[in-house]
Amino acid sequence: MKINLRNFPAEGRDFEGEDPVDILDVSDPEYRFESPVHYRLHAQVLGHALVVTGRVWTRLGVTCVRCLKDCEQAVEVRDFVVHREIAPTEDFADLTENLREDTLLALPQNPLCSKDCRGLCPVCGQNLNERTCSCANQAASADSQRVGDGSTGTPWSALDRIRITRK
Ligand SMILES: [Zn+2]
Ligand SMILES: [Zn+2]
Repeated sequence: MKINLRNFPAEGRDFEGEDPVDILDVSDPEYRFESPVHYRLHAQVLGHALVVTGRVWTRLGVTCVRCLKDCEQAVEVRDFVVHREIAPTEDFADLTENLREDTLLALPQNPLCSKDCRGLCPVCGQNLNERTCSCANQAASADSQRVGDGSTGTPWSALDRIRITRK
């Protein structure tokens, strides 16, 4: 994204458009970009400085870290800001690197399909968002059987033993 600095109006100028997703130069297969990088910006030249503010956004295909399902997420830089010194001889200001850096910083680190994703059952692998399985119940009853036999179970079974001794 380049801004033409020639004859720049005193009241500033609005820019709306998109850059191809290639500008992000992401090789990580964990992130699959599904739309270009959109921007809606306002630029102003104040003395020897170019000040650009606005919003940058794109869409991203990710894999949920809990349930491993592919899902789509919006990536948004709400307060995109560039403040840059410009020389009187400069004709263009190239903001591509700023768009790239800020968008990459906004990428989700541990993407989730939804913030209350229930993940996969560690025993049978069932996606617990789709239906529940009986593994959790079975583990609980196995625990209660161990009570009193002296084996070390979960911290909870240890607690159960204490309660039994007090009876
Ligand atoms: Zn999920
Ligand atoms: Zn299960």
